[in-house]
Amino acid sequence: MKPLGYTRAGGPADAVAAVAGRPGASFLAGGTNLVDHLKLGIAAPDLLVDVTRCLSDTVDDLADGGLRLGAGVRNADLAADMRVRERYPVLAQALLAGASGQLRNVATTGGNLLQRTRCPYFQDRAAACNKRVPGAGCAALDGVTRHHAILGASTACVATHPSDMAVALRALDAVVHTLGPAGERSIPIGDLHRLPGDEPERDTVLEHGELITAVDLPASSPTVRSAYRKVRERASYAFALVSVAAVLETDGDGRVADVAIALGGVAHVPWRASRAEEALRGGPATDEAFRAAARAELATATPRRDNAFKVPLAVGAMTAVLRTLATGAAR
Ligand code: SF4
Repeated sequence: MKPLGYTRAGGPADAVAAVAGRPGASFLAGGTNLVDHLKLGIAAPDLLVDVTRCLSDTVDDLADGGLRLGAGVRNADLAADMRVRERYPVLAQALLAGASGQLRNVATTGGNLLQRTRCPYFQDRAAACNKRVPGAGCAALDGVTRHHAILGASTACVATHPSDMAVALRALDAVVHTLGPAGERSIPIGDLHRLPGDEPERDTVLEHGELITAVDLPASSPTVRSAYRKVRERASYAFALVSVAAVLETDGDGRVADVAIALGGVAHVPWRASRAEEALRGGPATDEAFRAAARAELATATPRRDNAFKVPLAVGAMTAVLRTLATGAAR
């Protein structure tokens, strides 16, 4: 049996010092993903540094009208915050689409962003997996790929990112604040998660010992509508086959003044649908335009054996969410 140490950090700087100086150390927050990995034997830290009591668990107003989410805010509390529900419904809906009520009571904002893939081969120590053991190969390439990526994958890894919350934050252009051995930094969420390339073992750009301390949401205009839609195998407690987070603003002539779209379940990162956004801006907010833009986004998709269905599914889901926002059926 491998010894596993535990310590409770007195503050973020103590936590960073404890983890950064020890390669086998790991932060522990809600533990909803890490504890599973300990049980499965796919994570084997020698020290857990508990940060649950030293991270902010409040949602605070920013001077510019945005919100600062403490990294320790529980997913359930964030989804219930009236400012989030009224100004960022896409985020509240995404949070409530994730996991179960019990898990949302424990999972934190920072930890949710750092979830690891649910690729079954990653979770099976008998399977080859470049993410778990760099250079070992990828069992998914010739395996069952119903839940795998169709955008941005590499020959080293075709896994998807599992978070719903991160997809909403991607559409909202959130900014992630960290404290690490080199000090503080602010990372646009689009730069946080990595495509797999030839280093799929690295999910994010964070360094060892770098701790997420907060996430900022930019101010939201009352004329903007947003929504999240998740398509999955069953109605609850399932990861997305495809999900869509969309933020839409239309002008008085029924044209798209601004739009932001992010997709889940299709890539190693929360996927920003930049091609679709570009096609839509300034154009008519119609079903035809939404479908054409969605098709343009998915034109670069490279499905694997079992997941070609995700292409029309993503096109349909994007079209449906944008239609809902354009017709005012969602806020
Ligand atoms: Fe591992 Fe990625 Fe291949 Fe899954 S897809 S087995 S996570 S390398």
